[in-house]
Amino acid sequence: MPIAENISLQALHTFGCNEKAQYFNTIQSIEDIATHIQWAKEKKLPYLILGAGSNLLFTKTFEGLVLKMEIMGIKKVQETASEVFLSVGAGENWHHFVSYCVHKGWGGVENLSLIPGTVGAAPIQNIGAYGVEAKDCIESVTAYDTTMSSFVTLTNSHCLFGYRSSLFKHEKNRYIITSVQFILQKQPIFRTEYGAIKEVLHQKNNKQPSVEAISNAVIQIRTEKLPDPKKIGNAGSFFKNPTISKSEFENLIALFPKIIAFPISDELYKIAAGWLIETCGWKGLQKGNVGCYEKQSLVIVNYNHATGKEIYDFSEEIIQSVQSKFNILLEREVVVY
Ligand SMILES: Cc1cc2nc3c(=O)[nH]c(=O)nc-3n(C[C@H](O)[C@H](O)[C@H](O)COP(=O)(O)OP(=O)(O)OC[C@H]3O[C@@H](n4cnc5c(N)ncnc54)[C@H](O)[C@@H]3O)c2cc1C
Repeated sequence: MPIAENISLQALHTFGCNEKAQYFNTIQSIEDIATHIQWAKEKKLPYLILGAGSNLLFTKTFEGLVLKMEIMGIKKVQETASEVFLSVGAGENWHHFVSYCVHKGWGGVENLSLIPGTVGAAPIQNIGAYGVEAKDCIESVTAYDTTMSSFVTLTNSHCLFGYRSSLFKHEKNRYIITSVQFILQKQPIFRTEYGAIKEVLHQKNNKQPSVEAISNAVIQIRTEKLPDPKKIGNAGSFFKNPTISKSEFENLIALFPKIIAFPISDELYKIAAGWLIETCGWKGLQKGNVGCYEKQSLVIVNYNHATGKEIYDFSEEIIQSVQSKFNILLEREVVVY
C-alpha cells in the first residue's frame, strides 16, 4: 500500500483528539515492516507503531510515519493434557482473543476481559487488571528489532515485565511486536480474590466459578465503572499507582490515616493514585472540555472535542496538585506524543 500523507488520527485513538500524522500506512504482514522502517530511516523521520490507540495521547501533529499494526491470526501451536500454546497476531483485538479463550474454556486471560487495544500492545505495558497481568500467560514475544534489522523471539524473562512496564518501554520504539505466544490452562486456577469479582459472583450465586463466569463478572464491573471510549474519549487509567518507601509511607499515614496503600515488599508500598487524586478534589471535576471521570478518578475524559494539549495540561494540573499535597510525583501511564 502506498504511504498516505496528512492523515487524521481522530478515529484511530480513543481520546479522539483531532491531531494528524504526517505519513501513515498499515502493517498487514511481517514482510511490510523492514521496507517501511527503511523508508522512515532514509528520510530521517521518527516512526510510531499504532495499535488501537487506547493508551496514547496525541498533543500535536506526528511529524513522521505512523504505522498501524494489522497482522492478524490466532494459531494453536501445541496442546498438552493441561496446556494450550497459542501464537496470536499483534493486530488482533485483545478482547476478541480473550473471548476466543473463554469460549474454549481455556484459563489465564479471563480477568483481563474487555481491556481495549491490540494483542501486540499488551506486552508493552504488561496490561493488568483484577489481580492478573499479561505476563502471567505470555510465553514469548516475537518482534522486529529495528536496531539489528532482524526478527527476534524474546522469552518471558527477556521481556523484563514489571508493573505497567517491560523491556519494550525501556527501549522505546526499538521493537515492533508482530506476534505474542501465550500459554493457557485447561484446568485453570481462578483468581477471584479481587473484592468486586467476589461480590458479582456472590450476587449471581455462582459457587463454582468458571472461566466464562469470571469473564462475565469482569465485563459487568468494567462496564459499570469505566467510560466507554466510543461514547466519551479516554485512555483508561491516565496515571500509574506510585511506589514509595516504607518510611515515606509511615510519614504519610500519620497525616492521612485513610490513605489507600499496600506493601509490595518489606521496604516498598504502592499507593492508590486514584485515592490521591480524589483527595485533592479532582473526582468528577470538569474544566472546559476535559474532566476527571466521576466514577473513577484515575481516568481523564474528553467531554467535547478537547485538544490533546488541553488534556495534557489538565493532567499536569493533577500532577502538581498531588505533588503539593502529598509530595508524591505521579507518572503518566498513557504514552504522550
Ligand atoms: C476504557 C479503557 C480501559 C483500560 N483499562 C486498562 C486496564 O484495565 N489495564 C491496562 O493495563 N490498560 C488498560 N487500558 C489501556 C490500554 O487498553 C492498554 O494499554 C492497551 O494494551 C493498549 O493497546 P493499543 O493497541 O490501543 O495500544 P496503543 O495505544 O495503540 O499503543 C500504546 C503503546 O504501545 C506501542 N505499540 C502498540 N502496538 C505495538 C506493537 N505491535 N509493537 C510495538 N509497539 C507497539 C505504541 O507505539 C504506544 O507506545 C485501558 C484503556 C481504556 C481506553
